[in-house]
Amino acid sequence: MYVHIPFCIKKCSYCDFYSVPYSRELAEKYVESLIGEIEIFACHADPRTCGALTTLYIGGGTPSCLTPDHFSRITETIVERFDLSALKEFTIEVNPGTLSAEKLSAYRDGGVNRISVGAQSFNDKYLKKLGRIHRKEDVYRTMGRVRDAGFSNVNIDLIFGIPLQREEEVVCDATEAISLSPAHISAYALSIEEGTPLFEEVRCGLETPSDDAYAQCYRTLGGLLEKQGYHHYEISNFARKDCECAHNIGYWTGEEYIAFGASASGHLKAGRPPGGLRYTNHEAIGEYIRAIERGQLPRAESMVNDVATAWKERLIMGLRLTDGICMASIEGELGEPPRSIRKSIRHLVEAKMLQKDGDVLRIPRDFIFVSNEILSRLV
Ligand code: SF4
Repeated sequence: MYVHIPFCIKKCSYCDFYSVPYSRELAEKYVESLIGEIEIFACHADPRTCGALTTLYIGGGTPSCLTPDHFSRITETIVERFDLSALKEFTIEVNPGTLSAEKLSAYRDGGVNRISVGAQSFNDKYLKKLGRIHRKEDVYRTMGRVRDAGFSNVNIDLIFGIPLQREEEVVCDATEAISLSPAHISAYALSIEEGTPLFEEVRCGLETPSDDAYAQCYRTLGGLLEKQGYHHYEISNFARKDCECAHNIGYWTGEEYIAFGASASGHLKAGRPPGGLRYTNHEAIGEYIRAIERGQLPRAESMVNDVATAWKERLIMGLRLTDGICMASIEGELGEPPRSIRKSIRHLVEAKMLQKDGDVLRIPRDFIFVSNEILSRLV
């Protein structure tokens, strides 16, 4: 299950996700609506969809904006309405500028067992450039509080490829992250999105790293993390043994998930073979709240996937994993891939951009950094 919290204290300069400025009054209304959505869903859902949850992820936005009371009310509703007896992972994303010992204690009491810290960098110059509300010392303070509260399964998010950032500064960021011994590190290449303040700066001449520089940073970062015992299991994700993010692996392997909150997207399979139903909630908070006040699920769209779409999704998501995908098991679920997909796979295997070992298909290590290009050729 995914729960979306669309509030942020301040918009980061590179972010084009939908989020709204946090206010306690709006958060209160939103939490009531979120609880309403969970109740409506649980009352009307296909009972097969409401089987035992294995992972729960509260993301955003900035979920740590919420008060401990807001957090507890949401989790209490989930506990009442769903079977959590098989829950193995419960993650919450936190922003180092918004976390208190009181909030952490509410997370622990509510069953959270994994904390994802949006550090992004350990260099104040770049944190400022990214428009983050925190500074390096806040990351250290946050990690101290997270450890004091008894959490051992911690992820640190990093961003690299920031304008003017040099390779040695990327190495410094990774080294500082490793020094805090997180179980998991996510390292994302910065993408400069149109409409963001950073895009405007770049348009006005701010220099961004070349493709070669990006690729070099990615290789260096990957090498450093692997040497320190972090297994590179997905394009942007590295984990200590058995600390891979089970929730995200569910997305990459085509699992079913329920999603709640404004702009959240879910994938329900029960009774809708072979591709399942995809839905997305209204993005604008006002529209989301009004739908729930009318007693309706706040769907902006929902669509039953046909076989071709389901195959494309499985390839795009599954090939993000360095272990690749098992074609036979996907075929067992969806049937044969359409001819156009089989043809694209054959061409990419011939061009050595995909590697086939028996039933397993994967992107070779050397091409992982350009996997988006490969995936776009596939579909
Ligand atoms: S905290 Fe995250 S969601 Fe919020 S503006 Fe920054 S990057 Fe976007």
